[in-house]
Amino acid sequence: MQFRPEKVLRIMRQFMTHSNQHAFQTPEASNQGGASVLPYTYTIVRARRKTMVVHVRHASVEVRVPLFVSDAQVKDFVNRHSQWILRKLEHKAGQESQRLALTDGGSIYYKARTLTVRYITDSRDDIVITEREFRIHGRRLSEETAARILQRWLLTQARILLPGRTQALANYLQVGTRLKEVVFRKTKTKWGHCTSSGRIQFNWLIMMAPDAVIDYMIAHEVSHLLHMNHSKRFWNLVESVCPDYRTYVKWLKKHEHRLWL
Ligand SMILES: [Zn+2]
Repeated sequence: MQFRPEKVLRIMRQFMTHSNQHAFQTPEASNQGGASVLPYTYTIVRARRKTMVVHVRHASVEVRVPLFVSDAQVKDFVNRHSQWILRKLEHKAGQESQRLALTDGGSIYYKARTLTVRYITDSRDDIVITEREFRIHGRRLSEETAARILQRWLLTQARILLPGRTQALANYLQVGTRLKEVVFRKTKTKWGHCTSSGRIQFNWLIMMAPDAVIDYMIAHEVSHLLHMNHSKRFWNLVESVCPDYRTYVKWLKKHEHRLWL
């Protein structure tokens, strides 16, 4: 099980009575209200909640507020937190600039190394990694075909490595028979998932991460075969097989945006 922010948002929306877009981009608009100029727009989501909270995503700002809070109160709240919102937006923009670029000469963050992407025209599709370069071999290479070749290659790597290691760890923890299936799926928000029926799902993009991080993901999902939650007992079990797990959780948090394809 993994926390999914968009799921929470979906649940919140069921309670939503009203949502509107507030744009304070022009000096005219914001000066009317006598407020300072905000270099971003935000959306107000009214819901059955007790507090006001700001969520900053890639380039959007969402303010979730209780049902009976006025627009003026929201505006005041946003103004008071503007420095924080701006810092967050800058951080997201910085992350965006680090995104994977599969163009010839672009850069890729593979196993914690920044490598230059090179297109090599070849009759067969393949990936070859050298000290500095991430070479994509293929026939008619474009960003699209390069992405396809990389996806296929990562999925192959995942199929070679993950089922065996997952089963071995499950056996070691004496829950080998509870593991029914290891499947692969690229999702937007999750690295792994484990169902109560014993099906473990991995996002094959994890193959871009260092091996230690991959092992942590395996430890995390296999531990769910014993504890279907993120309780203290669950984390103790993770720690028993992956003592440095905190380092890997942090690594993923800091770098995962560079791995999305
Ligand atoms: Zn989990």
